[in-house]
Amino acid sequence: MRLSGSVFDANQHGCPKCDGRGYVSFNWQMAQERKGHAIDKYPKYLRLERALKFGFQYGCPVCSTKWFLDDFSKLISIIPESRLVIFEEWNNRELYLSEEMLAIANSIGATPPDVYGNGGHLVEVPCEVLTRTGEIFERAILSFQKNPPINFGDADVRLIDSIEQVRPSKFSLSREVRYATAQASEIRMCFSPTLVKSSEGDIYVLNGVTNFIWESDLEGEEFSVFDGGGTKNSRDAIQDINAITYFVGDWFPHAEHLRIV
Ligand SMILES: [Zn+2]
Repeated sequence: MRLSGSVFDANQHGCPKCDGRGYVSFNWQMAQERKGHAIDKYPKYLRLERALKFGFQYGCPVCSTKWFLDDFSKLISIIPESRLVIFEEWNNRELYLSEEMLAIANSIGATPPDVYGNGGHLVEVPCEVLTRTGEIFERAILSFQKNPPINFGDADVRLIDSIEQVRPSKFSLSREVRYATAQASEIRMCFSPTLVKSSEGDIYVLNGVTNFIWESDLEGEEFSVFDGGGTKNSRDAIQDINAITYFVGDWFPHAEHLRIV
């Protein structure tokens, strides 16, 4: 049924997707608490459809868009249509690694969240993955979390139970370097540099929490933190998030103990 303008005021009904605001996620608590705020109407229109493994599914009765409210009832996000299938699989399965693979993940170590706490709800381990169907991913990240695999942009996202083997990646930076990138302070907007030096003496600038090296034929372990100061002859080594394959697993008690400290 097409709703005519006289019946359906686009500014009064529906979710932020169909009322023209176009948010892909917003703070659910703020929407509940801030009366008079532009987003306070959405809790009235989005309908709770079901409880999930973690969190809740909401739906918009106007445009049928599905929304995921996180386990902390804090952030609500659109479930993109392209992720609906994997979202369902995520909800229906228990996603844990075997003890043996978890021990390998532990020896590699999870890269910590940044100093501002971004990524605190994730435990992420860079590695190489062999899948049960025989595919090899040299730049893979095991991502343990309570969120479904819906917010990864265009990145390739799988579920952790498709893994046959976890092993160290030759492109993964050392524990020391990854820890240093997580400790880096933001010195200007979106720029939290860490300098590293290659075994050939080249200086590279990493920006923000970084797991893999990109701009070199050298292996990740051949880079060390560089304290020499000065970035005159340095090169940027930009991390291409969309070239990483993510394997999402369920959060488990003490998952944070995988992190490098
Ligand atoms: Zn809608």
